[in-house]
Amino acid sequence: MHLLVCGGAGYVGSHVAKVLYARGHRVTVLDNLSTGHREAVRWGPLIQADILDTASLDAAFQGRHYDAVLHFCARSLVGESMVAPYDYYENNVVGTLNLLQAMRRHDVERIVFSSTAAVFGNPVSSLIDEDHPKAPINPYGASKLIVERILADAAHAYGLRSVCLRYFNAAGASAEDGIGECHEPETHLIPNLLRALINPAAPLKVFGQDYPTPDGTCVRDYVHVLDLADAHVRALEHMERTPGAHAFNLGNGTGFSVLQVIQAAEQVTGHRVLFEAAPRRAGDPPVLVASSQRARDVLGWSPTYTGIADILRTAWDWHRAPAF
Ligand code: UDP
Repeated sequence: MHLLVCGGAGYVGSHVAKVLYARGHRVTVLDNLSTGHREAVRWGPLIQADILDTASLDAAFQGRHYDAVLHFCARSLVGESMVAPYDYYENNVVGTLNLLQAMRRHDVERIVFSSTAAVFGNPVSSLIDEDHPKAPINPYGASKLIVERILADAAHAYGLRSVCLRYFNAAGASAEDGIGECHEPETHLIPNLLRALINPAAPLKVFGQDYPTPDGTCVRDYVHVLDLADAHVRALEHMERTPGAHAFNLGNGTGFSVLQVIQAAEQVTGHRVLFEAAPRRAGDPPVLVASSQRARDVLGWSPTYTGIADILRTAWDWHRAPAF
């Protein structure tokens, strides 16, 4: 297949591009390079374009046929979304609508959409499956949920085939392929703690130690980015067989608190992580852990990096010698 990977210069998108290429597909990346890295576009050509610019989107579809689009272009920081909601709705909702309309104009009828556990809000059960109520508590999650709804409506109205993949906490890297997690500024836990470990002058801030969890810090379900990438290949195969709009939760099914992740990182690296208590970060739910039973049953997906130490080891390999 020829696949358009929108946001393919970013963290998850570049790992998906690598895996698609390795499985024999042809990849074209579309990215505005606002947060992505040109160096991470290694498995196909780059079209530098913005999903808010409909003319440049049209140009990206002109004269080429894509069998499907994989869509990773998004603002994706919970805290930032709380203070800049217009930016989130504009990029994540309006931008996606532009992309969907361009796909329709150019007869592309399949999309894999990068969604998030943030569509669920505060969990009402210990494992979150696809039927869990969707009640986002921040604009980031709300913007993704709106797109999920648009995709469901487009399945009915236009026969668009779609799969929403709701990532829990993407983590890890593929250092041997020269790609890993690199945001500036960095806000995510694992890269921040590895940076603190490399530079003890800038200790990690632990956001909130008074959550209703066993050690008071937030619990998250960390899933390796290459396992996420594998799910995208399976989602494409699923759409071949099955019309309609589908959604799957992707996680390992085990939660780790911030303090547990710090402890595991110290074991993996042999270094101390210096950290200090900081206030809660707005918009963070206390616990998010996935049930991925549907992805296992329907897509035949199962994560290969099942332990936090395995995931941290690959992140550490990257952070010791990042390629960009
Ligand atoms: N976190 C933290 N310090 C940091 C970054 C994150 O304590 O420097 C916490 C954050 O509050 C959350 C968890 O680590 O409870 C995971 O946050 P991250 O930003 O990695 O992912 P998110 O869950 O927001 O998608």
